[in-house]
Amino acid sequence: MVRSDVDVLVIGSGIGGLCSAGLCARAGREVLVLEAHGQPGGAAHGFQRGGYHFESGPSLWSGLGCWPSSNPLTQVLRALGQTLEVIPYRSWDVLLPEGDLRIAVGHDDFMTVVRDRCGSDAALEWQRFIDVLRPIAAAADALPLLSLRPGVDGMAQLLQRGGRLLPHLAAMRHLAGAFGPLVDRHLQDPFLRHWVDLLCFLISGMPMADTNAAAMATLFGQWFEPDAHLDYPKGGSAAVVDALVRGLESHGGSLRTGATVERLRLEGQRVVGVTLTSGEQIDAEQVISNADIWTTLDLLPADALESWQRQRGATPACNGFLHLHLGFDASGLDDLPIHTVWVEDWARGIDAERNAVVMSIPSVLDPAMAPAGRHVLHAYTPASEPWSLWDGMARGSGEYQRRKQERCEVFWQVLERKIPDIRDRCELVMEGTPLTHRHFLNVHQGSYGPALSAAKGLFPGVTTPLDNLWLCGASTFPGIGIPPVAASGAMAAHAVVGKQVQNQLLRELEL
Ligand SMILES: Cc1cc2nc3c(=O)[nH]c(=O)nc-3n(C[C@H](O)[C@H](O)[C@H](O)COP(=O)(O)OP(=O)(O)OC[C@H]3O[C@@H](n4cnc5c(N)ncnc54)[C@H](O)[C@@H]3O)c2cc1C
Repeated sequence: MVRSDVDVLVIGSGIGGLCSAGLCARAGREVLVLEAHGQPGGAAHGFQRGGYHFESGPSLWSGLGCWPSSNPLTQVLRALGQTLEVIPYRSWDVLLPEGDLRIAVGHDDFMTVVRDRCGSDAALEWQRFIDVLRPIAAAADALPLLSLRPGVDGMAQLLQRGGRLLPHLAAMRHLAGAFGPLVDRHLQDPFLRHWVDLLCFLISGMPMADTNAAAMATLFGQWFEPDAHLDYPKGGSAAVVDALVRGLESHGGSLRTGATVERLRLEGQRVVGVTLTSGEQIDAEQVISNADIWTTLDLLPADALESWQRQRGATPACNGFLHLHLGFDASGLDDLPIHTVWVEDWARGIDAERNAVVMSIPSVLDPAMAPAGRHVLHAYTPASEPWSLWDGMARGSGEYQRRKQERCEVFWQVLERKIPDIRDRCELVMEGTPLTHRHFLNVHQGSYGPALSAAKGLFPGVTTPLDNLWLCGASTFPGIGIPPVAASGAMAAHAVVGKQVQNQLLRELEL
């Protein structure tokens, strides 16, 4: 038999891909990650210009700096022997149709805001809602995502964890459904309903009616505990990516950037390796694709499993992003929060285009992210920029530049409310569109990921009908966002390394 070049080849170095690669390497497999971009990390990659450390994606992290942690990323990092230095923080600003607020995570502070804004009935309503969510969060906690086995029936897994799950059986029925019905049943106050809808949208890219209940109950469980806080990873998302790469390499795995996979090579229904755009061929025993589902399908011959390709290729996509990256003079700006979230009009729907903006200034907490006396900012319109406005346009054309400037104007209007002279302070300005997003992240239509409603079921799992091909990342169960993609990376790794290794890992992590 001809020996493959590697045991496991991972296409893409997003957080999901790096988690799967690290765990396979930890289990003794020879692992190679191929990344098309010059930087690892996918949506979470960082880049530097003029002494500024820019972030391209995630800004809200929690459960990174503590152990035990229910965050699958923290669990994977621990398995790989890596720790992160984090800066805890508790508050952020929101600019809402109701007015401007500083909102804290943590139960008591949020209750104060609710009582002041909406009165004591609303505060009571919120308290009852949190009480309803508590057992659902506990049920999700009792069934850690890392303990799930790909392709194994759910009942077998429930029986295996039997004793630990028994107290949570009543709440478990909520885990696979949407969050919206729970909210509808328990929250009437408009401010509270809007607030929950906003958080759902920031997490899943979809309104609460389509967002998974387990994900939200877990998040609320963390954010509304008395001592809750968020974690900013020192050095930003790039530091998280670096830790995963260190974990991979310390277990003998390797990463190649600037290496674009052009094709998956098949023998019958078995994947045997890949061909790169450079023409290089690499054989692999197993391949894990961290590319999104549409990109992965593009790597397959059109006549391989046509009906599966047709079905998965029809997956609807979330909208994309407008981005703004700034480096600016920080003098005199003493009370800036790390995040500001702006919503213009609830009636338009939280997912309406240019109706919401998220701005993060990480140098407020971590001054090393910008040169002395400067701040670095990343703002984006979360998953609301229609692809149809950009489809077919050439980056760099006059028409593109004009549209980019016109569409990105929304950022400046919001920013000027916080920092009136922001335009004069800027040393570095970069605006981005779904085309920028697609160019650097290799994501279909510059999208946030699949628009699969939790009301209709769960995201598809890591298995494929092709032998030796597995999937992970935001197109795969449990879905979009850092904790979910870390979990799907672990699930793909467990599919490759087997049940015994998985059980050993769970014992070591005491999950
Ligand atoms: C602006 C923004 C803000 C976000 N904010 C948050 C947040 O606050 N909190 C949160 O939890 N989540 C957030 N998310 C979501 C989260 O960042 C993503 O869901 C997650 O990082 C996606 O990881 P992934 O494993 O799916 O891989 P991706 O990040 O999609 O990476 C896939 C990688 O595969 C590579 N690739 C693709 N095709 C090929 C090929 N043919 N050959 C080689 N390489 C290839 C790509 O270049 C890419 O690096 C945000 C996302 C964005 C974009």
